[in-house]
Amino acid sequence: MGCPLSLRPGQTYRDLSLWHETVPDDWTPRAALPGDRDTDVAVVGAGFTGLWTALYLARAEPTLRVTVVEAETAGFGASGRNGGWCSALFPASLDSVATRASRAGALAQHRAMRDSVDEVLRVATEEGIDAHAAKGGTISLARSEPQWARARAEVEHARSWGLGEDDVRLLDAAEASAVLGATRVRGATYTPDCAAIHPARLVRGLAEAAERRGVIVHERTPATAIEPGRVVTHHGILRAEHVIRATEGYTRSLAGERRRLIPVYSLIIATEPLPPEVWDQIGLRRRETFSDHRHLIIYGQRTADDRLVFGGRGAPYHFGSRIRPKYDRDDAVFQALHETLVDLFPMVRGHRVTHRSGGALGIARDWTASVGLDRATGLGWAGGYVGDGVTTTNLAGRTLADLVLGRDTDLTRLPWVGHRSRSWEPEPIRWLGINAGLHAMAWGDAEERRTGRQSLLARVVSPLLG
Ligand SMILES: Cc1cc2nc3c(=O)[nH]c(=O)nc-3n(C[C@H](O)[C@H](O)[C@H](O)COP(=O)(O)OP(=O)(O)OC[C@H]3O[C@@H](n4cnc5c(N)ncnc54)[C@H](O)[C@@H]3O)c2cc1C
Repeated sequence: MGCPLSLRPGQTYRDLSLWHETVPDDWTPRAALPGDRDTDVAVVGAGFTGLWTALYLARAEPTLRVTVVEAETAGFGASGRNGGWCSALFPASLDSVATRASRAGALAQHRAMRDSVDEVLRVATEEGIDAHAAKGGTISLARSEPQWARARAEVEHARSWGLGEDDVRLLDAAEASAVLGATRVRGATYTPDCAAIHPARLVRGLAEAAERRGVIVHERTPATAIEPGRVVTHHGILRAEHVIRATEGYTRSLAGERRRLIPVYSLIIATEPLPPEVWDQIGLRRRETFSDHRHLIIYGQRTADDRLVFGGRGAPYHFGSRIRPKYDRDDAVFQALHETLVDLFPMVRGHRVTHRSGGALGIARDWTASVGLDRATGLGWAGGYVGDGVTTTNLAGRTLADLVLGRDTDLTRLPWVGHRSRSWEPEPIRWLGINAGLHAMAWGDAEERRTGRQSLLARVVSPLLG
């Protein structure tokens, strides 16, 4: 496979993002797979999915041999580069989960996600990982009438599911501004179910924690194929009773998996640490993560060292689901993110943007995450988290551990277990459809800003695009 996942000329792993640069780590790669080997469970991919799975297996069954093979280095992918929202957001709405399963199943999935936020923080502490976590919740601003209408509709919808104020609540303009001092605040929704984290500290810490418990991690070992009973790599064959695919946005790199999940890029900018007088105006005193109710998602957090990290979608989908190091950067998107940040917080104008980065997340054809294990073949998988994988991967890891160990638990009965999404369309239909959808959402947001009215086009397209 070689080049596609890799780095730009002269770039090192440390240069991938703010998070990679600020993790106390020298990024020396672990040894590659030294030829053919046997193990009990082979995990492909050392992001959150692969490492949570390996860690929970090792915690539950210390004698089990668990081996992880990673194309680059642990945390190379989305897990090291994300916005650091450890949230209870599940990449499928309650309604769509209920349609496929049941109302009770959808609520169980929702409860499992809420619990998983605390589980991430609890296990990180137990394993001695300092992920710079602060559970301040999420505030999603409404900064126009259409956004305010969507905020109210979201809370009404939650109530129709029996979810109360402890789950999500509406804030008026004064309450919202007291949390987050942005411009044109009309109100907000607030949920307590989110922690701001430093993702690279978490993912690197998970790799070390798994190793301390006997898991073997081989880096710079790209797998070319996953087959029943074995993983094929350039360095040798890893034979195992169970093989887990944990490759998310990069899944196309595996033989026969080209149309399983598409890689869509999300990009991030980070400011220098901002002085106390700026934070006195912005707020986020409990390090609440923040967003607003526009269609094309934006997300932000106040870091432990007082930077603003701010990201959004909007980068194009690349023909053929191609992944290239150069796609991590898109000057037009970085510029648009900076303009949006200054529009939200004029007081950050003049403060330096020190980091620009990006990465690929994975999306299934029906925009629904899934986890599962085929008992007949021993092949397991988890992924398709869209932009909500930080917490969902933990639920996936625990669930895969239960499935591998043959345990029938509350987790293995959740509706997303065993769900199969159909393959994406061949090109050029895929490229045309996805980019048309992304453009429609961006255009809809601009139209709403201009007219102050709901964009009909974006309203139709955004549920299709998650
Ligand atoms: C910019 C950005 C911002 C995001 N923000 C958030 C957020 O704030 N909150 C949230 O919940 N989610 C967010 N996400 C999504 C979240 O980061 C992911 O859903 C999650 O990290 C997925 O974890 P993973 O382990 O499944 O995949 P990854 O972290 O991508 O790991 C997959 C690993 O597999 C390796 N690999 C791939 N192919 C092979 C192969 N053939 N052989 C061996 N190894 C291979 C890769 O190198 C990689 O290390 C964001 C994503 C991005 C890109």
